[in-house]
Amino acid sequence: MKNNSEYKINKFLGAHVSVSGGVFKAPKNCNDIGGVAFAMFLKNQKRWVAKDYDEKIISKFNDEVKKYNIDKKFIMPHAGYLINLANNDPEKWQKSYDALVDELKRGEELGLHYINLHCGSHLGLISVEEGCELIAKGINDAIKETKYITVVLENTAGKGNTIGGAFSELKTIIDKVEDKSRIGVLLDTCHTFDYGYDLATEEGYKSTFNEFEELVGFNYLKGIHLNDSMYGLGCKKDRHESIGNGLLGMDFFARFMNDPRFDNMPITLETINSEIWKEEIELLYSLIK
Ligand code: MN
Ligand code: MN
Ligand code: ZN
Repeated sequence: MKNNSEYKINKFLGAHVSVSGGVFKAPKNCNDIGGVAFAMFLKNQKRWVAKDYDEKIISKFNDEVKKYNIDKKFIMPHAGYLINLANNDPEKWQKSYDALVDELKRGEELGLHYINLHCGSHLGLISVEEGCELIAKGINDAIKETKYITVVLENTAGKGNTIGGAFSELKTIIDKVEDKSRIGVLLDTCHTFDYGYDLATEEGYKSTFNEFEELVGFNYLKGIHLNDSMYGLGCKKDRHESIGNGLLGMDFFARFMNDPRFDNMPITLETINSEIWKEEIELLYSLIK
């Protein structure tokens, strides 16, 4: 962990980096911005199917991970955007399920530990409870079809009919997953605030994470998407902003960077200007007291 031993800290920052040219491009892209953790797509995120990895791709990926001294614990791929396990149309659900299994198998082929998944949307056609049931069924079945990888559910901004904005909804899904060792949660700070948890104030920060601990539990927290929010508390717009340029404010980021509950997990930026990721990461590390 060259960067982190330099910093002597337990925060592992990076970004959702490009895989243009192949997944093996990601470690260098992460290193270029001074990152020690990253998210990436395992295939084109807007398509249902992609070519399988061959041995060459896999070994090249492993070489690059080693070359840039990145710990695989801090690599959390993001599943494709088309997957919606809360879709109650059986054919469409199956398509989503198959795509999830494909993502999990790709992650395992690369020797990774986690896949970050959006809960999905009930599309206004079924209840949240029924949606959670469908999501859990998909996860339970997919876990049986794969070897070891952990599914990590991301909280949402609550835009439209998306599930998983409220911590209680994440809990409902986790409760229904049989193998608790293979389910986790990721918090996106923009989504959390945008949904209506007031991370911008000191009081709100405290109560939000107390509620998270009570309902879900930090033992399930496997990663963070660290984003500022373009819109205000409870707007449910899901628009990210660069660190310090949005409505979360620098006080929030300072509190976060000094909070040990977020140690030793991948913390990745999905902020809107990738040109300044390096500066954003430096800025965040500078906040550590
Ligand atoms: Mn996401
Ligand atoms: Mn996110
Ligand atoms: Zn978002």
